[in-house]
Amino acid sequence: MTSPGTSLLSAAAVETCLSSLKNCQGYIDTGVDITTGVALDLIQSGCDAAAVADMESVMLEYAALNRDLTQYVRAVEETMRKVRRDAPDEVPDLKELVYEAYADHQRTNTDESLKKSDKFLQFKEQLRDLKKQMGVSQDSADAAPEDDDSEEVSVTQSFANFKCPITQSEMVSPVRNKVCGHKYEKEAIEKMIQTRQEKNKHTRCPRVGCDVSHVRLSDLVPDKALKRAIDIHKRQSQAKP
Ligand SMILES: [Zn+2]
Repeated sequence: MTSPGTSLLSAAAVETCLSSLKNCQGYIDTGVDITTGVALDLIQSGCDAAAVADMESVMLEYAALNRDLTQYVRAVEETMRKVRRDAPDEVPDLKELVYEAYADHQRTNTDESLKKSDKFLQFKEQLRDLKKQMGVSQDSADAAPEDDDSEEVSVTQSFANFKCPITQSEMVSPVRNKVCGHKYEKEAIEKMIQTRQEKNKHTRCPRVGCDVSHVRLSDLVPDKALKRAIDIHKRQSQAKP
């Protein structure tokens, strides 16, 4: 039972398992995207606060799933590293070891930390952004429903923010820099980073006055709220004679 062949085999099986666990991440991300989209739709169509709150609890469940999956994958990886390093004569009960490592991670989990998780914070931020773009303040979110005129005015006022600092034209797929909060056209900033990279140089944030001197691809996240605001604006200006 303890020939090297057996432990190699089990290690390979664990690797296969791990990669299918990592596939689950994709399903969680899809769920997060859909939930965000629904919540943004709800806000856009007139702010039923209770329905938005429902989406918030769905998002918390996704954040918990995401945390558990991350911790499980980490537990498996840690266990495998430990087994490889210690190279015990007997093949250990991997399942038991992984479970112990996982339980260790889970012990420190709290609802509070879940609300501070990246997934949840990003969700809240997108909702806040859309409300801001629509001119709805946090407090009045569930008060008087907007009439079309006031929405149009506030969207027109923020029209300047729709322009990409690189292309100088209205953005189509805006991304937000997590570091400074500035927004750019996805394709334009990616191309800029790539061109600079080929010269072994960092990319400065192209927004005038910003002191971020190194924009990384990994700092860029899609800004769905802004995209919606731009789309609303586009529809409104097309509707005019
Ligand atoms: Zn910036």
